[in-house]
Amino acid sequence: MKRLIYLDNSATTRPLPEVVEAATAALREQYGNPSSAHRLGLAAEDVIEDARADVARLLGVKAKEIVFTSGGTEAINAALVGTALAHRGRGKHIVTTAVEHAAVLETCGFLEQVGFEVTRVPPEPNGVVDARAVLGALREDTILVSVMHVNNETGAIQPVQTLGQQLKRLPKVIFHIDAVQSFGKLAVPLTGVDLISLSAHKIHGPKGAGALYIREGLKCEPLLHGGGQEAGRRSGTPGVPAIAGMGAACRWWLAHGQEAVRQLSEIHAAFIEVLRQKVPGHRLNSPPDGAPHIVNLSFPGFKGEVLVHALEERGVYVSTASACSSRSAKGSHVLRAMGVAPEVNEGALRFSFSPFNTVAEMEEAGVALAEVVKELRPMMRR
Ligand code: PLP
Repeated sequence: MKRLIYLDNSATTRPLPEVVEAATAALREQYGNPSSAHRLGLAAEDVIEDARADVARLLGVKAKEIVFTSGGTEAINAALVGTALAHRGRGKHIVTTAVEHAAVLETCGFLEQVGFEVTRVPPEPNGVVDARAVLGALREDTILVSVMHVNNETGAIQPVQTLGQQLKRLPKVIFHIDAVQSFGKLAVPLTGVDLISLSAHKIHGPKGAGALYIREGLKCEPLLHGGGQEAGRRSGTPGVPAIAGMGAACRWWLAHGQEAVRQLSEIHAAFIEVLRQKVPGHRLNSPPDGAPHIVNLSFPGFKGEVLVHALEERGVYVSTASACSSRSAKGSHVLRAMGVAPEVNEGALRFSFSPFNTVAEMEEAGVALAEVVKELRPMMRR
């Protein structure tokens, strides 16, 4: 059988067997509409409420503060647009960072088009945003601050804990964290935090489910209007199978998270060591103290895309920047904001790990990487 080493886990993860089982059971057996009053409706509602309790437990919040969405992007849109609409009477200014996922940056762009003002704080050269720079961007009319926890391209951990502690003193400023890449792997801070966006498919759950934490009592206009599901916060018949899968994934992380993070740290260290010993000419774009599941590196003068395909030929699956932007020719906006030179940006690769990867795979992937770089070097610039 052809080798398959999947190192693109920040793009998406393979669903766990128990996730597939929970989603399949919901499709096959709990097919009622959760709003129906009969037995089948109640069974579907039970599935959703159990999943809500599991998501809440993993995040450390109350079940009633969790609203299910179709994924991280919808949660982020609901958080940003919902806050802007609910609090526009107080101000029109939003603060975010230049290294956010497109789901945040594009939503902010949309809000600008409809009259809001957005400040995008640049990161330091290591990809980490200085909390003081974010706080320094606040104005009298700032209503929202949105900062990601873990950057999806570099693994840089942003100072969301410090920001939460500081913003707690400013109750009129709503604080949203995009925790899509950290959920399950890092404790997401809750102090001073009003909204948190989550996604199921990054934690070995299914695609099509995510969640938004809305702090109890916070005013946030819903994005979707209709039948009033999710306590009026997100209308539409919920996607029971995907939500069931998200609940199952959260149960797995509750039971195995500590061990999983230990494994991630071990393979991260092993990969860095393999790079150091066997892969000449690389340049690390990730900070040394970043999240344990993401390593971003560049081969200056190479095209990342060419390396991705050459690695695929050897059964190793990675991305250039983020999966969503990996087909764009402009290079990564994150690396650009960090001040990375264009030829280094173009030659960037992202390796992202799951607890199901092994140290042996890191060794194999490193050797494959060294081979493709050696083979392709004569064809590349420099
Ligand atoms: N935010 C971050 C940091 C992400 O990495 C992603 C997905 O790549 C998203 C948001 C969007 O999540 P989803 O794919 O569930 O819409």
